[in-house]
Amino acid sequence: MSQTEQRDTSRTDDTTELAVELRNVGVAYGGGRGRRSDRFVAVADASFTVGRNELVAIIGPSGCGKSSLLSAIAGLVPFTGDLRVIGEPVDGPGVNRGFVFQAASLLPWRTVLRNTTYGLELRGAPRASRTRAAEQALALVGLTEFQDSYPKQLSGGMQQRVNFARALAADPPVLLMDEPFAALDAQTREHLQTELLSIWELTDKSGIFVTHQIDEAVLLADRVVVLSRGPRSSVARIIDVPLPRPRPADVRSDPKFLRTVAELRSLLDAFYQEG
Ligand code: ADP
Ligand code: MG
Repeated sequence: MSQTEQRDTSRTDDTTELAVELRNVGVAYGGGRGRRSDRFVAVADASFTVGRNELVAIIGPSGCGKSSLLSAIAGLVPFTGDLRVIGEPVDGPGVNRGFVFQAASLLPWRTVLRNTTYGLELRGAPRASRTRAAEQALALVGLTEFQDSYPKQLSGGMQQRVNFARALAADPPVLLMDEPFAALDAQTREHLQTELLSIWELTDKSGIFVTHQIDEAVLLADRVVVLSRGPRSSVARIIDVPLPRPRPADVRSDPKFLRTVAELRSLLDAFYQEG
């Protein structure tokens, strides 16, 4: 058992079913068949878990393998090691995971409502039930009035809300989010962070949130996984966020919030100083 796994067990008791489990997960690219030495190892060895209803943030600088790891969990890239979602080994994409990317990836010719039902359509859900699910998800992200609008009529922040609604409408137990607010201006970003916090109170989802922003990780997550510098990254540390939920709007000025941000900042400074 690795160090990181040992640290991890403090949060998981026997009665809690785990939402996501990674044991010695690696992600590598390129290299021909049988030519393992040519492969570029983005992530060498990552082990951590996500409990039910827990939100875990992954942080680390650009290129350390955050997206690679999340894509492996999504079943979009090959990996080595053991990777489970709700107890099931990951073998390609599946309906138990929803994905929200950095860039809004909406279909321009579809209305907000029909973008939100899209995933359910692909799955063959009946029209009435997918419309109901989409309407509920759009209400959750505050876009009910815009369900008949087209993406180009919406701001970047609103488009990203539709992305969230689309993931929520399919109602997967696990949400995977890759820097979903990175392309937004600071004010919109703060708005959506607060919204995600309250959505998290209302749903029973489990999730992983990738970001390179320390304060965003602390604000949103129950625990923060710090990746070491890439290539060949691994889990350098897992930090508990000592902020109970629901988190109030002014949690950003809570001394515990500020202390955790400072702790992570000095950790990251130390990890990334050399080289
Ligand atoms: P992060 O999301 O932390 O910025 P990535 O997971 O995107 O990091 O990338 C990790 C490393 O893997 C980088 O060096 C990147 O260039 C490389 N990489 C990512 N995707 C691919 C790919 N499809 N093919 C080859 N190398 C890749
Ligand atoms: Mg990335």
